[in-house]
Amino acid sequence: MTPDSQADSPPVPEFETSTLLQFLPGVGPARAEKLRKLGLRKAQDVLFFFPREHQFPPPPTKVEDLKEGSPATFIGKITDAELVSRTPGKSLFAAIVENDSGAVRIVFFNQPFRAEQLTLDRRVRISGTPKLAGLRWEFTHPKYELIEGDVDGADEERNGEILPVYPLTEGIKEYELRRLTRRVADVLADGVKEVMPGEIRSHAARRLRDAGVAVEGALPTIATTLRDLHNPPSEEELTAARVRLIFQELFVMQLALAMRRSSLTGRLQAPAMTCTAQIRQRILRRFPFELTSDQNRVIDEIAAEMGRQFPMNRLLQGDVGSGKTVVAIFAMMLAVASGHQATLMAPTEVLARQHYQTFGKILADSRVRIGLLCGSLSTAQRRETLEKIASGELDLIIGTQALVYDIEFHSLGLCVIDEQHKFGVRQRVRLREGGVDPHYLVMSATPIPRSVAMTQFGDVDLSTLREKPAGRGEVHTYLAVDSWRDRWWDFVRQRIAEGRQAYVVAPRVGDDVAERGNDRQEDEDGAAAVDEVEDVTSVNRTYEHLRDRVFPKLRVELLHGRMNAETKQDVMQRFADGEVDVLVSTTVIEVGVDVANATVMTILGGNRFGLAQLHQLRGRISRGVHAGYLCVFTDGEGSPEESERLKVFEQTNDGFELAEADFRLRGPGDMLGKKQSGLAPLRIADLNRDVEILQVAREMAQDLIDEDPQMDAEELEGLRDQVLRRYASRLDLGDGA
Ligand code: ADP
Ligand code: MG
Repeated sequence: MTPDSQADSPPVPEFETSTLLQFLPGVGPARAEKLRKLGLRKAQDVLFFFPREHQFPPPPTKVEDLKEGSPATFIGKITDAELVSRTPGKSLFAAIVENDSGAVRIVFFNQPFRAEQLTLDRRVRISGTPKLAGLRWEFTHPKYELIEGDVDGADEERNGEILPVYPLTEGIKEYELRRLTRRVADVLADGVKEVMPGEIRSHAARRLRDAGVAVEGALPTIATTLRDLHNPPSEEELTAARVRLIFQELFVMQLALAMRRSSLTGRLQAPAMTCTAQIRQRILRRFPFELTSDQNRVIDEIAAEMGRQFPMNRLLQGDVGSGKTVVAIFAMMLAVASGHQATLMAPTEVLARQHYQTFGKILADSRVRIGLLCGSLSTAQRRETLEKIASGELDLIIGTQALVYDIEFHSLGLCVIDEQHKFGVRQRVRLREGGVDPHYLVMSATPIPRSVAMTQFGDVDLSTLREKPAGRGEVHTYLAVDSWRDRWWDFVRQRIAEGRQAYVVAPRVGDDVAERGNDRQEDEDGAAAVDEVEDVTSVNRTYEHLRDRVFPKLRVELLHGRMNAETKQDVMQRFADGEVDVLVSTTVIEVGVDVANATVMTILGGNRFGLAQLHQLRGRISRGVHAGYLCVFTDGEGSPEESERLKVFEQTNDGFELAEADFRLRGPGDMLGKKQSGLAPLRIADLNRDVEILQVAREMAQDLIDEDPQMDAEELEGLRDQVLRRYASRLDLGDGA
């Protein structure tokens, strides 16, 4: 209690949350205008204007702690200063800096302007390496920082204090913001409504400690949190405040995801498909190999979920070559065994056709009827296929995504989406609005970092294939320098002589100037300068060069996305049949293509590919029993980020490790397909850093929603408001959610 509050009538607060900044003590219209640039209008905005970071000043050194030759920081007040000019251009500025422990001397030669900054009574923080000069320690040309603040501001910047660092705007100084946020927090923090009941705060702290997060006691109240963030009394209290805010942000998000999931459970219905031991056996008998234990486990997970009346929504992630197709075939056959249709969507026609063939082989002489739906069908063929799908004459429909999305099924029980690398909450919803609720199985070779899986995919179940089928050849990856090129082509020739096949991948199709961007030289006329020898970025030129000069005796073919579907299919087929030695291609082969005899790959312009893409490409040559060899050439120097990426790529073959590295190097942006991602951006939490807190928030949110799906409990009202305010429209939680 402050002395004031003991008076008869409560003191009138000097301002409230809604007070405009210009009316706050010490602000005024001019500063208020500048603060507006930081998005600050009202006192409330200042309260929630979080520091970017905090500065921990090193403990101030005392005079008796100084040591000859060891760097030190010393804070004190200037008690004497003198500028001595000797001959023109030669000067000496010396000053005495003093604190409770004593005084030191600082000197600057030939820098007379120092005298204007280091004036009497200024407080400074100096750092440098001191020397004993007689009886006094001396810093020559130290670095220094003036400690801001006018006369009465000075003692706000006490020694050893943790200082918040705010984003600044022109005309506003850090110390002014510090003073303002502190003042506002002192007056208003106590009035902020607490949305996290004490029980949740202490429970969360316990769980967080178990997860290894350093936090003592219960999580602080919001009032304490806000005060401590703007004016941290100690490092422990600051940590507790930060953890509380991070937890709250993630908890609110996870509550929204859990609520959404729980509300969908009530609304959606899918056909339940029972998987008996007999059905399981019958399906598995069709594969020419034993499943890996990972495949078996995932199949069980999927079968259990498809047995329920609620639509499965599962992401199957497994590194390239881990055998996801087998899992897809199993799930699709299970749907057919239960009298439903199943569809498999692929991103490209090449891949759709490949799947169609695989399915055809595995299901040969069975009664299952398979249809293919892709762009190159004639109108008549297409109409016929669509009719058979609608009438139920086809059981399995394999096609490209663009085509399968909108068609009418007789009775769709399962929808498998292969090689889906961009995900978004919305995209699935759109699918669901088609009128049926099939089970969904999305397959991806781009592993999702754990933290992303828990946020973006809060209502998606994850299955993971980590283990690869036994007997896989290892892949050797080399980052090449240009001078290796001839030797490498020799190596490729040798492997081909042994009966293997090779890929050569280039980043671009053609030579158009537009496509090149401005990263190549252009001559006077503006036409692209033709690289005499070899333009490694163009697949057309690379193809010509390899065919005519490097491998004149081999069968070299070209494949890229701009060729018509028939030609593409023909080239792929001949490559698969071993009639082509070297396939020169763009990344159209990136996804899913499966030719076990192709074991050598050359990537040109490797710096232009992302990590996930490189790894996908490498996956093309780790599919058979033979060892794979990959050589990556770059064009030019590449940025540091590019070379870092390539180094990581060379060092690890594990898709999960690469995904984590990618996430570290680039952030989650691309992978999530930001525009579709549907979740509000996080303000304080960082998915990379706060993964433990996220895990706890997720589990607690799930428990809470299991118990109280609508968050009806009175003490949850504030939290529920936050969840709805932030996520209702994004996650379609709206009314009745
Ligand atoms: P991806 O996960 O990249 O889609 P695929 O499903 O295409 O991988 O499988 C890669 C290769 O491994 C295929 O040729 C497939 O026939 C083979 N394969 C899958 N599962 C097994 C297994 N359990 N044992 C042996 N080979 C397998
Ligand atoms: Mg695949």
